[in-house]
Amino acid sequence: MDFFKTARRKDSGYTVIIGCGRLGASLANAISDKEASVMMVDRDERAFRKLGTAYGGLTLAGDATDIAVLRSAEIERADTVVSVTNDDNTNIMVAQIARNVYHIPNVICRLYDPEREIVYKEFGIDTICPTVLSTREIDRLLGKSKEAKEA
Ligand code: AMP
Repeated sequence: MDFFKTARRKDSGYTVIIGCGRLGASLANAISDKEASVMMVDRDERAFRKLGTAYGGLTLAGDATDIAVLRSAEIERADTVVSVTNDDNTNIMVAQIARNVYHIPNVICRLYDPEREIVYKEFGIDTICPTVLSTREIDRLLGKSKEAKEA
């Protein structure tokens, strides 16, 4: 049964986002503004309040570590899955299911732990690590202000 589901053609432009925190909500709003199809999943229904009133996508309340919830979100027809809950293990688990079970072409997950980021990049899962991104940006800004002082 699942074989036929995973073998279905990907629905171009359908994005599933897991975790409706500030980052997830901002991303969902941006995708919805472009009139692309988006599904937001969060285990806490109150989190959907962060979505703007203009949000035109779908929402689903449920725990993303439950595969039945991912099926209800129709993960099998997504071409992009972004997992940005506040828990690295959840994000890794969702990313691996999306990649290995449903063969989603674009899988991105947030990892707070920079050491894990390196490992999962090797598994073909794109990761973003706020610590690494912030460090790079602070370093860049410090370099810029140093240059300005020396000029
Ligand atoms: P933030 O920490 O602001 O980025 O928010 C993270 C969001 O992820 C919160 O709204 C949580 O309710 C949500 N979240 C955490 N774990 C899960 C999970 N297992 N399934 C679905 N949503 C989750």
